[in-house]
Amino acid sequence: MTSDGDHATIERPRHEPLSTPTWPGGARAAVSLTFDVDGEVGLAAEAPRPASLTAISERAYGLRRGLERVLDLLARNDVRGTFYVPGAIADRHPDTVRAILAGGHEIGHHGYRHHSPNRIDARLQRDEIERGIASLEALVGERPRGYRSPWWELTQTTYDLLCEHGFAYDSSCMEDDRPHRYRHASGSLLEFPVHWCLDDWPYYSWSGDHGGNLFAPSAPTEVWTEELHRARAEGRHATYTLHPEVTGRGNRLAPLESLIRAARDASDVAFVTHGELARLLG
Ligand code: ZN
Repeated sequence: MTSDGDHATIERPRHEPLSTPTWPGGARAAVSLTFDVDGEVGLAAEAPRPASLTAISERAYGLRRGLERVLDLLARNDVRGTFYVPGAIADRHPDTVRAILAGGHEIGHHGYRHHSPNRIDARLQRDEIERGIASLEALVGERPRGYRSPWWELTQTTYDLLCEHGFAYDSSCMEDDRPHRYRHASGSLLEFPVHWCLDDWPYYSWSGDHGGNLFAPSAPTEVWTEELHRARAEGRHATYTLHPEVTGRGNRLAPLESLIRAARDASDVAFVTHGELARLLG
């Protein structure tokens, strides 16, 4: 554990603001719906050893049932999202990635075995990035341009690797609520900020071992819709982070449905993938 003094001396990337682009269709604001398809590898770092079959089965639900619901909802509303997929999930479940691609969605890099970058050494970080690229490229037919770090954790080594491998953008940090550029020792990347309140996990992060939260769907619905209207008022972009094993479970689809409905009813919100957002920002 580092002390406060250590945190203060960590060299941080330099934030460079970007001017707001013209949103598609002349919209006032833009929204990206992003989905982290962690499956069973999302459990690896937090599971007791050995991981229980029940805990693994809850993650498997996301691929077996949750993803299908999410993809169906997006198709019915003609919305394209960005799906961040660990390479190991692509290798083990290629049909899952094919189903996402068939819906016209973007696939982004989410590590290989979902190791948290700040808990592994530089050699394993390189392995996570390079194996993840190889797995996605083999299945998608092109190299991923976007990255979201497992557990939303990054180190300078991660940035070095992303620049070395030509990534255009990351979506893991919280310094701003507008897209910006991060310049650091090895180059620069666009950053599409995230936050816990715009993530489904904190509202539903229950486990048998640790307890947690089991909010009613009204809680994330209220928060996410409020953020949508703030983004409209400010003419900015907002990223939402969802997980098939969480949002794809029956009653928990409601907040995402409500968010999409609120955006459609407002008729001045554009849905953009992170890849489209990167192109808009040049
Ligand atoms: Zn993840």
